[in-house]
Amino acid sequence: MAGGRRRGGGGRRGGPQQHTGTPQPAPPPAPLCPAAPTAQPAGAAPKAGRPKKVVEERAARAPDVDSLGFQAMDRNVPGLSHVILKKLNMESYEDYKSAMDGRKSGSDFGIRTYFDMFQKMEDTFKFCAECKKLPDALPDPKSLRRCKRCQNVYYCGVACQRANWPLHKKFCKKLKLVALDRLVEWLVFTGDIPFPTETWTKPARDVKGWEDWFSMQEQLEEKLGAIVAGRYMTLLWANAGKPRPEDGELRQSIRRLVTDFHSRPLTIGLGLRLFGIDPLAKPLTVHVVGASHVETLNTRPTDYDELTRMFPGHQGMEMVMVGVDVVDGPIMRPPLATPAPRGRVYLSSYKGLYHDFWESHVETKLAARPDLVVGFHPGFHACPDLLAGWLPTLLLLRDYGLPVLFTVYSEQELKASLQILVELETHIVGYASNPFASLRPEQVYSSPNKAPVYCSSHYIALLGAEASAVPGAEGLEDDDDGWQGGEPSAAAAVGGGITPVLG
Ligand SMILES: [Zn+2]
Ligand SMILES: [Zn+2]
Repeated sequence: MAGGRRRGGGGRRGGPQQHTGTPQPAPPPAPLCPAAPTAQPAGAAPKAGRPKKVVEERAARAPDVDSLGFQAMDRNVPGLSHVILKKLNMESYEDYKSAMDGRKSGSDFGIRTYFDMFQKMEDTFKFCAECKKLPDALPDPKSLRRCKRCQNVYYCGVACQRANWPLHKKFCKKLKLVALDRLVEWLVFTGDIPFPTETWTKPARDVKGWEDWFSMQEQLEEKLGAIVAGRYMTLLWANAGKPRPEDGELRQSIRRLVTDFHSRPLTIGLGLRLFGIDPLAKPLTVHVVGASHVETLNTRPTDYDELTRMFPGHQGMEMVMVGVDVVDGPIMRPPLATPAPRGRVYLSSYKGLYHDFWESHVETKLAARPDLVVGFHPGFHACPDLLAGWLPTLLLLRDYGLPVLFTVYSEQELKASLQILVELETHIVGYASNPFASLRPEQVYSSPNKAPVYCSSHYIALLGAEASAVPGAEGLEDDDDGWQGGEPSAAAAVGGGITPVLG
């Protein structure tokens, strides 16, 4: 399968080897990380009291997150999922699912040229942002016209555009960046992005965020310039069906996409530091729980190497991607039973539920016990089905007292997630905005006129159960390195009174 990409989750990349010769396009943006705010309207977070009942049920089945995403999309724009499947040359959601799972090999989505690829991607955004009509529902499908400013949203006519403007004007500028990044992201598939990086010249504790990170990149402007002037950038704008922006805008877009690429490894690095886990002291194992296509589709074994540059001289780190939606690929290899090789980051995966993995691999010592567990956008706050699927994992993490870092897309999701974790009597050691959040804005696919979200915009750190809180807290670094977490009372989290601790 060509380099696939899911909306909303900073999806993934193909190696440069895929892009020599014939076009190997990324398919149009398939929906969507359902953990993104598409999944549920605000206020859908579970009410107090329910989890205890659900605990008893211990749902054995994993939620099908993609199908939830499709449903959410069709609630906003009826019929849009059908358009997307058609563009992907697929009959049904089941086809899509098997392609994503790698069960249907050789699926090329019927895309033959670069122009075709960009056109199909754009087509999936063609619906009237005001009345939600798809092209087929219009007397003349070509009458759908794009907002000139952002080149992102469409209208069936002047009346809808006027009616929508008071709302759209709040987001038009950001949506322009979203549309640009969506195209430039193709350079992640071609291998142009990210540019090569070097060992950090400052200790990790002194790198407070992206500004510091970029300041360590030698010859940054030359590297950005080479990408802007590169063959694939030229090819992109020859086929995108939009005018090429100025070089300055392209450089900014590349920078945002570079942060998107490195956000996951650096957030893991942040988690290690927050819990005082020293990669120089011993080999480490990190479990990425609830991993999906977003983390595993076309992921290369080198994609988390920035951790080696962050912690030069480390003793070896293994990242094990565990989740039902893990995709077959270069990192689909068994977890190590021995420590990770010194000075290297080793990626492996397990396709299945985390508590099953725990039973079959960790308890039997086929895989190491994790030093840190990370979940990117778990989305358990989004709807009861997802929460039911997550519960066994959440309880396992709590009851084994494992250091856990979860990320969310927005402050709103942070509040909803905290509420659930408080109800589960998890010990929340802190939460804050993430200094290594992706800087790339992402729109809610089928509902563009909403505030854009950012991958891993906030994090929550957990350690064991509420009653056993005290021992764990000592493990945390207590310095001024951006740890702004506070301990929410149940009332604070539930009542939403958490703003003061957010950066
Ligand atoms: Zn309309
Ligand atoms: Zn606009």
